[in-house]
Amino acid sequence: MAEKEKDKGTRVLTPAGKPAPASGSAARDLEEKKARIKKIIKILRKEYPRPRTALNYRTPFELLVATILAAQCTDERVNKVTPGLFQKYPTVESFARARQEELENDIRSTGFFRNKARSIIGLSQMLMAELGGRVPDSMDQLVRLPGVARKTANIVLASAFRKAEGIAVDTHVRRLSERLGLSRQADPDKIERDLMEIVPRSDWLDFNFLLVDHGRKVCQARKPLCPQCAVRQLCPSSEKFSRLFSGRK
Ligand code: SF4
Repeated sequence: MAEKEKDKGTRVLTPAGKPAPASGSAARDLEEKKARIKKIIKILRKEYPRPRTALNYRTPFELLVATILAAQCTDERVNKVTPGLFQKYPTVESFARARQEELENDIRSTGFFRNKARSIIGLSQMLMAELGGRVPDSMDQLVRLPGVARKTANIVLASAFRKAEGIAVDTHVRRLSERLGLSRQADPDKIERDLMEIVPRSDWLDFNFLLVDHGRKVCQARKPLCPQCAVRQLCPSSEKFSRLFSGRK
């Protein structure tokens, strides 16, 4: 059997699923990205000195529920719903005993309320049955919970436990990774793998929050504000977007 397997994207993986050492131009490309991302992070840390989730929470469990509610919804909307929600259901057990229809009504304004209610009740029941009602602090255990994928797990680990086992890839990280030329992948797990290879591990905890802040304030989805962007000198898309929005060709 061949010692290395080709990934579906452009990457070569060892049989253990780890990236094989890059060679030639791929190695140079990797080194260029590593050097550039260090500079980008340094600038973003100055622009956004308090990188953190905008979701309000008091416990890891509240953050877990809030993060699930934030899928396809704004953090502002979730922050309006959660105070009343956590007053009505103050414990993991109370969520585990909640009636599906009633919880759906309680969280309706966050959208996708049926799936979200099913996930919240399901994960609460699993926490009660298998983990003594406590939210685990490891990726392996978190992704076993209903409705919890790596993105949610990474946010909970980073914010509630200050642990970095990966990098949360949400809509902002996905968009900015592409624009900044950090990953060409579309699948969030593959984008995360690309980022984990070039972002220094000491920056994993804050990387999602830095890109979310920048994505909200400057590198917006519909119209990135490239002329005002602090990292435009390091961004391969700045020329293209500046031309596009100034009407030049
Ligand atoms: Fe986004 Fe433009 Fe800044 Fe690049 S230069 S990160 S595209 S706002």
